[in-house]
Amino acid sequence: MSTRVIRPFDPWRSDLCTCPPKYTLNPYTGCSHMCLYCYATAYIGRRPSTPKRDLISSVRKDLRHIDRTRPINMSTSSDPYPPEEQELKLTREVLKILVAHGCRILITTKSNIVTRDIDILMRGNVAVMITITTLDDNLAKIIEPNAPSPSQRIEAVQKLASEGIPVGVRIDPVIPYVNDDERMLRQLVNEVVNAGARHIVTSSYKARPDNFRRLITAFPELENKLRKIYYEEGELVHGYRYLRPDLRKNLLRPVVDEAKRLGVTYATCREGLPEFRNAPSCDGSHLIPSRVIARVLDLF
Ligand code: SF4
Repeated sequence: MSTRVIRPFDPWRSDLCTCPPKYTLNPYTGCSHMCLYCYATAYIGRRPSTPKRDLISSVRKDLRHIDRTRPINMSTSSDPYPPEEQELKLTREVLKILVAHGCRILITTKSNIVTRDIDILMRGNVAVMITITTLDDNLAKIIEPNAPSPSQRIEAVQKLASEGIPVGVRIDPVIPYVNDDERMLRQLVNEVVNAGARHIVTSSYKARPDNFRRLITAFPELENKLRKIYYEEGELVHGYRYLRPDLRKNLLRPVVDEAKRLGVTYATCREGLPEFRNAPSCDGSHLIPSRVIARVLDLF
């Protein structure tokens, strides 16, 4: 049997995942954004975005087998809009097909390149979640070296919202001592909600051996403090080092409180904190509009 490119989403075996049943579709393998905290590198290694082989024909084939009422999340283990997408337009081609088939699509990205495809997004059942972890462009350059700056991402939120594309923001991950300044987090929520974000997801950083190594190499002065709270006081959950629950709550509370105050939906990701959620879905799939009815017959 050939490998499917539209696959049931597997939240890396975490029973703390509260995502609704959905598919994942990664047009690229690897990710050129090279975020220090990336979780996917533990599974697929750290390498630049490479187009999946036979992607378009595989997508067409897989569409015959999937449940089209379930959202397709692009993407969960690589960014669908790495710098390479500017030239290759692979994600754009996939979107055209999915939209033509009436699929429900949730785009998760750190890139403002997504705004290039507004002409397609506005015709389909598509919502976009933009990840923004800090307002500090210099800090972002260290922790997400090849991704567009936070200010460019906020502009993307604004542009999508002004064109009627439902958009939310992931403030994920919040890393202790790195991007956890309470005032900054509150301001970030304010800025993205002002720009048009309707849903906020947040999450604490979970340490894996490889992403932890990258973090302490970039921030050697934090090594002892981070080791203490993750490896001495924290707990191991499905292969990830979690902070103590009280520390995680303290870390995420400013984001949740601000979202609540501003009247947008909010949730956390893989935290097991139901009191920090008022949204029908954690991942933002409740934002997906119903513009096109899924085709019953495969026309492609
Ligand atoms: S954008 Fe996502 S997949 Fe890509 S390197 Fe960053 S965290 Fe990993």
